[in-house]
Amino acid sequence: MARLNGYLNQINVAETDQCDCGQARETVEHFLFRCRKWTAHRTELLQCTQAHRRNISLALGGKQPSDDQNWTPNLEAVRASIRFAIATRRLEAT
Ligand SMILES: [Zn+2]
Repeated sequence: MARLNGYLNQINVAETDQCDCGQARETVEHFLFRCRKWTAHRTELLQCTQAHRRNISLALGGKQPSDDQNWTPNLEAVRASIRFAIATRRLEAT
């Protein structure tokens, strides 16, 4: 996710932190769950994370403080996130 403008602007690589859609700062959350540019690519990801919609930790396989010791990553959601990112081609090197 290091190619998103929200991060690139922080490290002075991009002139703006705004998404190309013009609606918001391009953060991981915006890219994964909110950006209108990628609505068509997002169906599977939203189905996999339905019970925890817009949960970045779930989508990226991270453990949260509220998770107990039996926690395991939801690999179905992680795979859906990876397929989403590949389908958008947003993270490819330019
Ligand atoms: Zn956007």
